[in-house]
Amino acid sequence: MKAMNILEIEHLTVSFDGFKALNDLNFSMEIGELRTIIGPNGAGKTTFLDTITGKVKPTIGQVRFKSKDIRLYSEFEIARMGLGRKFQTPRVYVNLTVRENLELASNRHKDLCNTLFRSVSVVEKRSVDELLAFINLKNKQHLKGGLLSHGEKQWLEIGMLIAQSPDLLLLDEPVAGLTDEETEKTGNLLKSLAGEHSIIVIEHDMEFVRQIAQKVTVLHQGSVLCEGDMTAIQSDPRVIEVYLGAQEEVNVDH
Ligand code: ADP
Ligand code: MG
Repeated sequence: MKAMNILEIEHLTVSFDGFKALNDLNFSMEIGELRTIIGPNGAGKTTFLDTITGKVKPTIGQVRFKSKDIRLYSEFEIARMGLGRKFQTPRVYVNLTVRENLELASNRHKDLCNTLFRSVSVVEKRSVDELLAFINLKNKQHLKGGLLSHGEKQWLEIGMLIAQSPDLLLLDEPVAGLTDEETEKTGNLLKSLAGEHSIIVIEHDMEFVRQIAQKVTVLHQGSVLCEGDMTAIQSDPRVIEVYLGAQEEVNVDH
């Protein structure tokens, strides 16, 4: 029997005033996968995430999350179905402690867990202590969010997302602006979350991609250019042409 896919995308096209940011894109991933998506600027990566979250509606084609056509639901409802998104800038409460931030995120989930959509959730909820251990901030649990380093804020936000037991977690450039050490820790954190959660990571930093990559999807001009493991991707002439060739330029501000 075919393993159930957490996400299935068919013939997805998104047009902005006639310009196709996504163009007949096909994509699927299995439950528990850690998928990395790379591609040059303007390839459609952020639009791709926006379409999965319901922020942007498909012009043509279909996105199915846990077998449900997401066109039929609002952004809020899709989130409640078990979708978590991490934005580039951390969104933690600076005047609450690390622990309070996590408690708030956990309770937010609890208040809503009886809604129709949570009933299909496959992911168990973790306690605040487990979350603290997980994101390696147990010794800073009583510190205000605003006093954390940039990297620690990123981990706290990941912890806050995990508190809501998302089945699918979307991360847009989670290591931008982090030190090498913080980057490596983030990679380890994501690797330990995979399996239990399905994860999509959009990333520019090729060192980081090499660290975490299992299966990599390359986007180019709104479509999937190719997919495979890092070795296959790196030696694919089409990828070198459209992406790796521009890498130096891309990495300048990191
Ligand atoms: P990436 O994240 O890979 O850099 P984006 O998804 O942000 O790419 O953008 C893909 C293309 O779609 C770009 O050419 C961008 O200018 C265009 N685009 C994105 N959002 C909009 C929008 N709201 N209106 C018009 N064009 C857009
Ligand atoms: Mg982007």
